[in-house]
Amino acid sequence: MAGVSRRTFLQTATATAAAIYAAHATPSWAAAGRGSVAISPPLATFAYSEVELLDGPMKRQFEENHARFLNLDDDRLLKVYRQVAGLSAPGDDMGGWYDLTGFSLERNDFHGFIAGHSFGQYLSGLARAYAVTGSKETQAKINRLVKGYAETLDPQAKFFAGYRLPAYTYDKTSCGLIDAYEFAQDPIAMDAHEKLTHAIVQYLPEKALSRQEQRSRAHKDTSFTWDETYTLPENLFLAYQRSGKAFYRDMAKQFLEDDTYFNPLSEGNNVLPFEHAYSHVNAFSSAMQAYITLGSEKHLRAATNGFDMLVKTQSFATGGWGPDETFGEPGRGQLGDSLAQTHASFETPCGAYGHFKITRYMLRVTKDAKYGDSMERVLYNTILGAWPIQADGTSFYYSDYATTGKKVWYRDKWPCCSGTFPQLAADYHISTYLRSADGVYVNLFTPSRVQWSDASGRYGLKQETQYPFDNKIQIQVSGSQARDYAIYLRIPSWATSDSVLSVNGKRVSDPVQPGSFAAIRRTWKDGDRIELELPMPLRLETVDANHPNLVALVRGPLVLFAVADSQPAFDRNALLQAKAANNSKGDWLATAADGSSVSMRPFMNIDKESYSTYLLLKA
Ligand SMILES: [Zn+2]
Repeated sequence: MAGVSRRTFLQTATATAAAIYAAHATPSWAAAGRGSVAISPPLATFAYSEVELLDGPMKRQFEENHARFLNLDDDRLLKVYRQVAGLSAPGDDMGGWYDLTGFSLERNDFHGFIAGHSFGQYLSGLARAYAVTGSKETQAKINRLVKGYAETLDPQAKFFAGYRLPAYTYDKTSCGLIDAYEFAQDPIAMDAHEKLTHAIVQYLPEKALSRQEQRSRAHKDTSFTWDETYTLPENLFLAYQRSGKAFYRDMAKQFLEDDTYFNPLSEGNNVLPFEHAYSHVNAFSSAMQAYITLGSEKHLRAATNGFDMLVKTQSFATGGWGPDETFGEPGRGQLGDSLAQTHASFETPCGAYGHFKITRYMLRVTKDAKYGDSMERVLYNTILGAWPIQADGTSFYYSDYATTGKKVWYRDKWPCCSGTFPQLAADYHISTYLRSADGVYVNLFTPSRVQWSDASGRYGLKQETQYPFDNKIQIQVSGSQARDYAIYLRIPSWATSDSVLSVNGKRVSDPVQPGSFAAIRRTWKDGDRIELELPMPLRLETVDANHPNLVALVRGPLVLFAVADSQPAFDRNALLQAKAANNSKGDWLATAADGSSVSMRPFMNIDKESYSTYLLLKA
């Protein structure tokens, strides 16, 4: 079946819709039960273990994060919890945000800002890394950390007595424990989670509180009351699904921020302005779990509308959003203005983690390629350019899109972004491919392999590409026998109509449609080859409508940053005529208005050099 056409795919699709993928049986360690869900999205993630990243920047970031936390001393991680519990607490202090003491707003000292806040995220990152690698050493560490943490738990959770942000830290700890259970089969993690959850209730308000409500309840104490109760439902719904215990589902419902956030969003009212950026994007994932678990269409509408508002009114060309961690008012030129006002343009590891989660949920539910497009923008232009977390907790936090920007380390060790980075890097695996009843979706183009089995045999795809530096993607099919199913490839919305898709050297007859998944259904045989070529003409994207002369140079999914000590000015056509430098940095060369040649460099290849994200167009 060469010269496959879309009509043929559709005709055969229903006939062979029987799942090509064996559903996961309930894992044996989960004998206690699983909570039922109302919605099974048409796309599911593969297991972490079924996807392998091959040599490339995503694999490098995953391995760096895995090694960093595998090698972090257990005693240091557990120290603050043991200190409060009155147990022997050997080992060095972690330092930075993680310690118990030191915090002073007056002295501008963020030592001990939120003690132990990221323990659960490091645990979660390790559990997901274990799911990817099967490393026994990693599993043993997870078991030690959960046991050590459980020993510090008491029925009153006194660690949280007088604690500044109980919901914030509970949410992360919750995630770590349910991931240790789900992905590393830890025998006591779910019991510890239940004990913690029953104890934490006394420290939480009766519902999710907006900042406005927190402010009005804070009375005289106006500093740091910004707890994030509205992010709790996602992990509580997951705890319900993984344990079958209904009280988690009921508690999740209690903390859906409906009155001030999801209700107005579901009706199309843009209530993002002035909200804290990352936590309110993270809250979209709670809305998606309300949809999946409860079948609540209102929460699906809220997440759909909210994400649309995020992309259309709050986002830079890189896909990043929320300068100074705050959403601005649309139509006032707030993004363009921010370039002259702040270097804290995008909270990168946390923002990218939240962005990957919501786009993965939306993609699973809608099968709409635009969510994959949005995910890859954030991937290539933000997180893949983040520096790795250092042994002492020194971390990359903000991307800087200021008129003249620079990469810098964050001033405090072990911040929030040191917690989300290892979680996200593990999630690269489950974001690259998705599965449907009738086939496999190739969402991200990156060197990788996916392999799955069913009763009939073992199947796989292997992707080879230098994308986005090169515009060719090659996929090799493997299978223990010939098998009829569909392979779906994301054709980005920026792609042009001269994109070429071929199977075994023969061009697929239907033209590819940018902004959709191209389906190739046929009887796939071991050794079949797919080739996709996506031309990437240069284009310009303005920062916002109020600043028509501030543009980013974009090629495919990749923003090209001007390497310069001050913001260069260009003639529009000269910028669009930039030429590939064919060097190891992936540079393009453009001639500035003053006649000088400017290197245009992808974010992931920028190190210490100054750069401009947005360029000035000469009138
Ligand atoms: Zn962060």
